[in-house]
Amino acid sequence: MRIDLHNHTERCNHAVGTIDEYIQRAIELKIDIYGFSEHAPMDFDEKYRLAFCDMPAYVNDILSAKEKYKKEIDILLGYEVDYLPGHMDERVLSADVDYLIGSVHFIDKWGFDNPEFLSGWKEKDIDEIWKAYFEATEAMARSGKFDIVGHLDLIKVFKFMPKTDTRLLAKDALQAIKKSNMVLELNTAGLRKPIGELYPSRALLEAAYELEIPITFSSDAHAVEQIGAGYTLATTLAKDVGYTKAVTFQDRDKQLITF
Ligand SMILES: [Zn+2]
Ligand SMILES: [Zn+2]
Repeated sequence: MRIDLHNHTERCNHAVGTIDEYIQRAIELKIDIYGFSEHAPMDFDEKYRLAFCDMPAYVNDILSAKEKYKKEIDILLGYEVDYLPGHMDERVLSADVDYLIGSVHFIDKWGFDNPEFLSGWKEKDIDEIWKAYFEATEAMARSGKFDIVGHLDLIKVFKFMPKTDTRLLAKDALQAIKKSNMVLELNTAGLRKPIGELYPSRALLEAAYELEIPITFSSDAHAVEQIGAGYTLATTLAKDVGYTKAVTFQDRDKQLITF
């Protein structure tokens, strides 16, 4: 089975293509389970996400598409939620969805993965930035509010690499992920970024496998042509590391599939 759980829609204001176009491409690629996980509303960085007032319309769009395409593909409803203390909203956290992806895109409100704020990388020690990132990831896992860890090592996006071994930096976060029963996504968006590799790296995926942390797959598509890009690379890496199953969700319950 082929699965892809992290995809966006035009409602976040930085993705292009209609829901129908995304789904038709997913069907073409013979994806069996395709999930939308729009950037959830938040009272911070509002420009790049769904608005609170559009939540019902988003849900309605996805559920209508689920019904419309049910003979061809299984469509899931989710959100990608920013882990940002003080800004996570109960309307999102308790939403009636198939899953919630928890992602760290901000360190103390600094959008480290946004090219607009690239100068922030020159203001601090790179190893300290990586430490703060994985501390936030650990706290995100400990919060117990999310099902999937979004792009585990997004902090590598611009290729500012630490001197310290990344396995050491991510160790406590991975343990918290295991403890909170979260699933790790193999996210292919990194292939189209300066780092040019999957999230997570092979080294971190091996560490996750040792801890028996389950995985899922995602394109993190913000455009139709990004759907499924790098999928073979992701499954090959996963199999190479030892994985044979991936996780899908329904009403926030996990189910294992063979990929
Ligand atoms: Zn996005
Ligand atoms: Zn993200």
